[in-house]
Amino acid sequence: MNLVFLGPPGSGKGTQAIRLAEKSGLVHLSTGDMLRAAVSGKTELGQKAEGYMTRGELVPDELIIAMIEELVKAGRLDGGFILDGFPRTIPQAEALKDMFAKHGTRLDMTILIQVADEEIHARLRKRADIEGRSDDNDEVVRHRLEVYREQTAPIVEFYEKEGILTEIEGEGTPDEVFERLVTATA
Ligand code: ADP
Repeated sequence: MNLVFLGPPGSGKGTQAIRLAEKSGLVHLSTGDMLRAAVSGKTELGQKAEGYMTRGELVPDELIIAMIEELVKAGRLDGGFILDGFPRTIPQAEALKDMFAKHGTRLDMTILIQVADEEIHARLRKRADIEGRSDDNDEVVRHRLEVYREQTAPIVEFYEKEGILTEIEGEGTPDEVFERLVTATA
């Protein structure tokens, strides 16, 4: 099964993606994690990406698309996957579609985890206190939500048109959300 997870920052999509990967054996690919690893490893990609990430902006499409293209070519997605954090813009969604068409990969489902704005703010504030992620301070969080609304939310419609969008209610305990997710993907 080939899945894409969508949802605003703080929707819990990363946590849920990890849990579903463990249960199902699908490979979990988080572009945020990959980029953070590139930043701490001081790779060329990491050096280019770091400024955008700390400002809460998206890394330029061509950089992130090249990163995903390498994974596709290396066959890392061939055994079933959960893509978490990609695509995040319409050009990325289109690039993914082209890549998959060439590679013979089909996307089965796009899962949108829905959470109300006030809840998102509360969760991200809490995460900032606990994890101390440099892009979790108030102003950057606000900016990341704005970026989500402007650049990422339009891909919900993109996948709706493709007929592969499934929405899941992201409020409640992580266990409750996971149960909905398991039901939706069964
Ligand atoms: P969250 O889901 O909490 O917003 P992520 O861990 O998915 O955070 O991503 C952290 C940062 O990495 C983003 O704010 C952005 O700068 C960068 N990033 C991750 N994925 C992408 C992508 N597909 N396109 C552009 N930038 C990305």
